[in-house]
Amino acid sequence: LDTLKNKHITVLGLGVTGLGIVRFLVRHGITPKVVDSRPVPSGADWMNHNLPECEAVFGPLAEAALSATDLVVISPGVPLYETCVAQAIAAGVEVIGDVELFARLNDKPVIAVTGSNGKSTVVSLAAEVCQQAGLKVGLGGNIGTSVLDLLERDFDVFVLELSSFQLETTHSLHCLSAMILNITEDHMDRYPDFAAYCEAKLRIYQQVDCLVYNADDPRTFLPHDNALSVALEGATCSLTEDKGQTYFSLHGNKLCPVDVLAMPGKHNQFNALAVMALLSPLALPDSAFIAAFEAFKGLPHRCQLVADVQGVRYFNDSKATNVGATVAALESLAGEQGQILLIVGGDAKGADLSPLKAPLQRYCKTVFCFGKDGADFMPLHPHSQMVNNLSEAVALAAQQAKPGDLVLLAPACASIDMYANYMARGEEFCRLVEGQIC
Ligand code: ADP
Repeated sequence: LDTLKNKHITVLGLGVTGLGIVRFLVRHGITPKVVDSRPVPSGADWMNHNLPECEAVFGPLAEAALSATDLVVISPGVPLYETCVAQAIAAGVEVIGDVELFARLNDKPVIAVTGSNGKSTVVSLAAEVCQQAGLKVGLGGNIGTSVLDLLERDFDVFVLELSSFQLETTHSLHCLSAMILNITEDHMDRYPDFAAYCEAKLRIYQQVDCLVYNADDPRTFLPHDNALSVALEGATCSLTEDKGQTYFSLHGNKLCPVDVLAMPGKHNQFNALAVMALLSPLALPDSAFIAAFEAFKGLPHRCQLVADVQGVRYFNDSKATNVGATVAALESLAGEQGQILLIVGGDAKGADLSPLKAPLQRYCKTVFCFGKDGADFMPLHPHSQMVNNLSEAVALAAQQAKPGDLVLLAPACASIDMYANYMARGEEFCRLVEGQIC
């Protein structure tokens, strides 16, 4: 911190993360300059009230002259290729994110997780296991509490969810274990190509003691002396069979039968295996894993059973905001009786939708498409139907579904074209489904 005190620091981006960075610096006696391209960013009010002495520049970024500063602490929402940021980097200004600041100040063990899908589920389950083992665990990063707020409290271990945006500006995070769960296309509106997105994710392995990877997704792997593989079958951490029972196992040692896990679906069995591998360096007792697997029911809006209406089950997977998550939901929920009536659409963020074609045709009876990019899904299935909104989709699905069928909201898109966020979209779906019951 002392080295920071002698620097001229600019915080770029004044949303939730940016405000967290400002508060942290101020608490430690550092008054940064604050810059945001929006004329009135969300944190502006707070700044005016609480830190009127802090220099704030809101409006077009170019005017902010970032090159007149020593260190820029940037929010994950601001791309590094933004002209003024790129200019500042070229002029020799150091640009880091809040996770990098955390990394430089932290001396506790860190377990870190990234990936296109499953991050929040895996870190939440991992934190539950740590808690069951009696550890004080700081869960945060891209979920809940910001990393800098975590630093203010006394934890035994940190479990961090990190996005590719956060990793882009992180250089010295030392992790006891770290994993890329999977890499499928996402945020193609922010990256020049898929390779650049993968490269950002791989940064999580820069300084890791135990590298955990997905054996079925070679993009998640980098050579390492201490690497652990995870997959439903044939990896170091895998499902194993014994006398007709399937178990979660690590190094061939059985932990417990798979039905101990409260969360449904194959992808959640994978998530549980990922947690076992990630926490293995902590050598926690089996009982902590078993208690957590039983207790953790999953996060809302992730393959959540909303209701069973006359034999038709409705699942809310509004958090499926990319193609990979929708494919995982279909593969996880299919195979049970009946067929899937799928609701997709919203803002596809420039993604290639073609990987959906085979699973859609295999598992779905009908596909209802809505929202800004809804029409792009129409050619993927012979029985696809354009609808104006979620309400129409649920009403038609309810008419067409037969007992044993399954109605699934897994949109493969962001929700911003019609909703405040994926939660608002999921909540509306739940309300519409409840409406079918009355
Ligand atoms: P993230 O934090 O990476 O967005 P979440 O746990 O919030 O991950 O889940 C996001 C979406 O991905 C949900 O639709 C969920 O059902 C799906 N999902 C969860 N785990 C996996 C996995 N291991 N592989 C693929 N999809 C997954």
